[in-house]
Amino acid sequence: MSDETVRFELPQSEIPHQWYNIQADLPRPLPPVLHPGTKQPIGPDDLAPLFPMALIMQEVSRDRYIDIPEEVREIYKLWRPTPLLRARRLEKALDTPAHIYYKYEGVSPSGSHKLNTATPQAYYNKEEGITGLTTETGAGQWGTALSQACNFFGMDCFVYMVKISYQQKPYRRAIMQAFGADVTPSPSDKTQAGRMILERDPNSTGSLGIAISEAVEAAATSGGKYKYALGSVLNHVLTHQTVIGQECLKQMELAGEYPDVVVGPIGGGSNFAGIGLPFLHQNLTAGKQTRLVGVEPAACPSLTRGKYAYDFGDTAGMTPLVKMYTLGHDFVPAPLHAGGLRYHGMASIICEMYDQGLMEATAIPQLETFQAAITFARSEGIIPAPEAAHGIAAAIREAQAAKEAGEKRVVLFNLCGHGHFDMSAYDAYFAGELTDYEYPQEEIERAMAALPQV
Ligand SMILES: *Cc1c(COP(=O)(O)O)cnc(C)c1O
Repeated sequence: MSDETVRFELPQSEIPHQWYNIQADLPRPLPPVLHPGTKQPIGPDDLAPLFPMALIMQEVSRDRYIDIPEEVREIYKLWRPTPLLRARRLEKALDTPAHIYYKYEGVSPSGSHKLNTATPQAYYNKEEGITGLTTETGAGQWGTALSQACNFFGMDCFVYMVKISYQQKPYRRAIMQAFGADVTPSPSDKTQAGRMILERDPNSTGSLGIAISEAVEAAATSGGKYKYALGSVLNHVLTHQTVIGQECLKQMELAGEYPDVVVGPIGGGSNFAGIGLPFLHQNLTAGKQTRLVGVEPAACPSLTRGKYAYDFGDTAGMTPLVKMYTLGHDFVPAPLHAGGLRYHGMASIICEMYDQGLMEATAIPQLETFQAAITFARSEGIIPAPEAAHGIAAAIREAQAAKEAGEKRVVLFNLCGHGHFDMSAYDAYFAGELTDYEYPQEEIERAMAALPQV
């Protein structure tokens, strides 16, 4: 028996005191966000009906570091620092010379990385006198995290949950209710956006884009009582997630290694940015050359097959126009079992990183993803969220490439959530009901023709 270390833990005192803001270091700044009506760049005041000023200022900040409030760090202590593990058993199963590490965010009370941003978002809203938050949720991870965060700060939480998930995942709804949230299946008749969709298609099973329209409308028409919270995509959300990568830098040091490649799944881009941005900072300022690889599903290939253009963030066209790699705001996802990766667009920060050649992207089909999840579970003992399994599949590809090259490469991936609430997806996989689905080129071309003219 050897006494090889597999777990690299940091003491509570090593929870970061600041978030890292990539906007300070991007070689080319982010393109402006445009008003949907005037098509002119928007300012902080345009966002004020939806977000508290503290978060709006973070959204546009060029400061390299942003202090984490003590109240937020207090709550982070419930699960942070999260462990870094060396997947030695997976390495053996793959018979690879690669060293594979993973950061495990599934230890958070919500089971994913989402609570890293839900907590500060609730905090800043509370500070500015807001009594409740509205939001959307697809797979349910974000709704769960925001329900918990609102509960910690004594706030109301209104969750518009994509109807198909609401029906397929009754326990997700019950978790949110346990934390006091009000959960509505979307599209609903509570909002104008929802009623419009239902009029056109009474059997609509919903989409993230539709649920966003409903949640935004509910906040905007609340007379200032409630604001809106988004679980990914926005700059401040990605910034909050950098606690992940900052801890990782220290933990890799404990392990005495440095990653050649950092991998993570990308839906809106937040967990990947969370682990990747602190390493990108090292690439940009300390001469490191770590490859960053974002992984999307072949069924929702925003970066690898979408167009870099101005588009709406929601389906009804209520949000500002953001330049992003998009599949079109009326994108209707295939019934893919990784709900968190079914968004038509992508974070502006990720899009610029990709466009500026600071990261790579790859798309992985569904069956390879679930095979990777099972390989990982059987060696490391953790059932990953289907979203996270995309990162695992790409990490396994990297480890196999290292084997073919006969090189010891260090691979780090973000295990951004566990899959305990997603067992129906595994059930479908075991029953042989899952298939691979390539997003059709005609659909992409149709949607591109419908992009707003800017
Ligand atoms: C929400 C979620 C995602 C996708 O969102 P990102 O912003 O790209 O991280 C991926 N994995 C898990 C576990 C999630 O909860």
